[in-house]
Amino acid sequence: MDIKIENFTKKYGPQKAVDNISFKVKTGEVLGFLGPNGAGKTTTMKAITCFLAPTFGKIYVGDYSIKDNPQEIKKRIGYVPEQNPLYPDMTVVDYLYFVAELQDISKSQIKTRILEMVRICGLEGEKHKKIGELSKGYKQRVGLAQALIHDPEVLILDEPTSGLDPNQIVEIRELIKNIGREKTVILSSHILAEVEATCDRILIINKGKIVADGTSDELRKLSQGKELLKICIENADKNSVVTSLQELDTVDMVDPKETENYYEVQSKNETSSKRQIFELCVKNGWILMEMTPVETKLEDIFRELTLN
Ligand code: ATP
Repeated sequence: MDIKIENFTKKYGPQKAVDNISFKVKTGEVLGFLGPNGAGKTTTMKAITCFLAPTFGKIYVGDYSIKDNPQEIKKRIGYVPEQNPLYPDMTVVDYLYFVAELQDISKSQIKTRILEMVRICGLEGEKHKKIGELSKGYKQRVGLAQALIHDPEVLILDEPTSGLDPNQIVEIRELIKNIGREKTVILSSHILAEVEATCDRILIINKGKIVADGTSDELRKLSQGKELLKICIENADKNSVVTSLQELDTVDMVDPKETENYYEVQSKNETSSKRQIFELCVKNGWILMEMTPVETKLEDIFRELTLN
């Protein structure tokens, strides 16, 4: 089931928490919604799940609009909100029974569905415990189980791995990836490694606006118009090296590193400085020990896009 957001805007008083964003998510796609605190991720997710009405704009889940058919959408969406609200005094099985009834699953099907969720979410050893007694990771799994029990076509997960230990994080990510093969999944996070590990596509949002949209490779390429080289030059005076490098017409910026004889050289847009650096070293009798391209990290792109 596809999701379509058209010019979605949400205002809280004078503040535009989300400012005129549009995007689509296709069936079978896991979309990572990435952004710093307060970027507007939760607000967008709440609107898709019909918990919040847009100030402007339209949102469709499949052919249903959140304005005209919220009940139809709610039937087809599984949602794990940021705080993962659960009933601590209920056992896992009782809670899943309760949710299954709320979701209108037929009586004859409920037991099978609960067993299936317990299996998929790895809750076998915990199913008769009270939710309040579970570790954070298992509570998160119960959150996922309740979101999946009615076999929704769309899954919305607000920071699904926050506060989990590294082993639990890996397990939950695997689980999400498996689920994502058949369903449409949107998950929010401010952890880059998380969206990179789990998502097919990343949408970076900052101050309510989309600032980038693409696969992690595509986002990396955004910054790759500018070549960054790490070079090591021996047998040369540091100041002369920096001055000479800066004078090259392809060079934008030179950054002498703390490690002796190392420099980072950023080329101007769409140019390469490799040849000129080599020739400069030959001309001056400097010894070029190393020249390697520095791969732009996703972190750098994220910082670049969200720091203003
Ligand atoms: P985080 O990563 O911190 O959860 P987020 O990207 O999910 O952030 P939102 O929760 O969507 O961000 O919040 C976006 C902005 O809207 C914030 O500035 C927030 O303070 C504001 N906001 C959210 N809900 C309300 C509300 N009910 N009333 C007033 N302002 C709100």
